[in-house]
Amino acid sequence: MSTQRAIFTLILIIFGLWLFQPEDGVSARLYYRVPTEVDHMKEGDIYYISLSDMTEALNIEMDYDPLTFEAVLNSGNNKANFNLFSTYIRLNNSLRNITYPILYKDADFFVPAITTVPVIADLAGITMVWDENELSIRAAELEHNVLDVEFAPKSNGYLCEIILAHPLEYEVLVTEGSWINITLQGGSLKPGYISNRPHSRVIREIRAFQFENSSQISINFRTDINEMHHNLALNPPRIQVSIIDTTFDYSAIDTIFADSEFDPIDVIVIDAGHGGSEDGAIGPKGTREKDIVLDIALRLEKLFEKDDIKVVLTRRDDNTLLLDERANLANGKGGEMFVSIHANWFEDASAKGSQTFFLAAALNDAARATAMLENKSILLNEEGEMADTADELDLILFDLLQTEYLAESQALAREIQTEMIKSLRTRNRGVDQAGFFVLNKVFMPSVLVEVAFISNKHEEALLGKESFRQKAAEGIYAGIKNFIDKYSPDR
Ligand SMILES: [Zn+2]
Repeated sequence: MSTQRAIFTLILIIFGLWLFQPEDGVSARLYYRVPTEVDHMKEGDIYYISLSDMTEALNIEMDYDPLTFEAVLNSGNNKANFNLFSTYIRLNNSLRNITYPILYKDADFFVPAITTVPVIADLAGITMVWDENELSIRAAELEHNVLDVEFAPKSNGYLCEIILAHPLEYEVLVTEGSWINITLQGGSLKPGYISNRPHSRVIREIRAFQFENSSQISINFRTDINEMHHNLALNPPRIQVSIIDTTFDYSAIDTIFADSEFDPIDVIVIDAGHGGSEDGAIGPKGTREKDIVLDIALRLEKLFEKDDIKVVLTRRDDNTLLLDERANLANGKGGEMFVSIHANWFEDASAKGSQTFFLAAALNDAARATAMLENKSILLNEEGEMADTADELDLILFDLLQTEYLAESQALAREIQTEMIKSLRTRNRGVDQAGFFVLNKVFMPSVLVEVAFISNKHEEALLGKESFRQKAAEGIYAGIKNFIDKYSPDR
């Protein structure tokens, strides 16, 4: 999309969200059997919820030891340990990364909602979905994974959202008489509840069906359906069906996502990770990630010289750059693709290979660990404190805007990974998804490349070689070029 339109859409969305921001001091709400208030607070961008309110509402036993600052939760055969300031929760015998530290206020533990709600859900054996827009947690017994359906008018149409406990395969079919039918494979719902959900005068009727292996929601509109888009969004997992129709004549101020036709790519942003006071990861021989990745970024820039593509580097020397500065620069320069370059680190020194990430919720512990490592250093400010990284809308914005680039980001990651492996002949760790802060504020297809493991002796030595860094740059370059050829052929 054009930069102008991107900025315009962004302003509309910010304005819309500002209007719908929940008031301060209002409790979050937990919907489980009966609605319950849950105390919450905000730390930087992150919503925190009261652990004691949660355990009470969900009927989970909690023991608190003021000497060790540890809370132990018991539910059925499950047990979880919460330690103050820790970014991990022990659930039975596994460690769950919650990215942000557990905090203390008014003799209570506060936990980051977005990452802790799934852990508490697993502990309690129920499904729970945290919705940041509404400050609500929807909890249900495990038998239902299709939790709710919501409707919202937009200035250019109408948005229907089906809230899920976890992503499901689905199909959308428009049938005669302005019906939109969404079939959810493996879906389970309460038909009576869904069909009685409040809607608006645009919708005539909602029907819900439970079949043996699937469920279906059918929505009947009063007007013709000429243009319809759908996609699976995350945080909370939900299916969005948007009906584009400007004749609805709503005065709402936000728009449904812009169409995703792909404009030619003219500006690429290359981000050398870390820098300045932030060394990034350090190898056993003392090689610093920030130096290695800067060199690769500069080589990559050089490779693009022969192309008619503008390359913007977030840094070209040993500068300290905060996340905001990287993202603002990328967005401000009209970037249409964002590639962040890093070297990986792991405590087990035998870990090796190359990997490319795109932004989405981390699906496994290794991806979470990498995300956590990169996020930690990015979030630290010069004094080594957690930086207040941005305004409160970031996570919501990420949710709205980044879904638009998810498919492109994944495709870009795949192209880069393939070419990088061809060029470097390192172990192929594949493409994975994880929640990187540096990516979530960049409104363009964006990936994070982990060239090799600096914590591995052999790969540290490779990263120290000019020829290896050149090959890394060449691999990334070839991947980007393939992506452009496939997805932006008009260039
Ligand atoms: Zn890094």
